[in-house]
Amino acid sequence: MVNLILMITAELDKLTDLQPQGGCDDANFPFYVKIRCGNCGEVSPKETCLVAVPKSRELLIFFQKCKFCGREENIVMIPGKGRPLTTEDGETEGYAPSMLFDSRGIKPSTDGTKFEGIDLSSGEYSEYCEKGQAPVMISNLKSKFEVLE
Ligand SMILES: [Zn+2]
Repeated sequence: MVNLILMITAELDKLTDLQPQGGCDDANFPFYVKIRCGNCGEVSPKETCLVAVPKSRELLIFFQKCKFCGREENIVMIPGKGRPLTTEDGETEGYAPSMLFDSRGIKPSTDGTKFEGIDLSSGEYSEYCEKGQAPVMISNLKSKFEVLE
């Protein structure tokens, strides 16, 4: 078992507290990563969606039986460990821990991570905020997985 934490950072312009739609513990918040088998090293050709599996006992968000070596592997989310990314984090290029996972046999890679709802695959997002009557922008979004010792 390996504990992996999804770290995010971005420059936030007139925005703060960037987090998944339902908060940092939202296992229903889908995001897409490439999966590498921890046993044979086979990498999924396409991004795989990580999202809560209905009726699972734990917060299971992904499981597979590797097509190549047949090993069963999964990722479980551990709630209560993430926090939103603040403007201050972004200014110092600090990463905020967004979500914690227990990865059993899988190594996810954040190359080309996509977040549902906001297309940040290019690392940028901008829109006009009707409420604040100002343009808001997220740029230089970066994410990575860190192994938690
Ligand atoms: Zn494999």
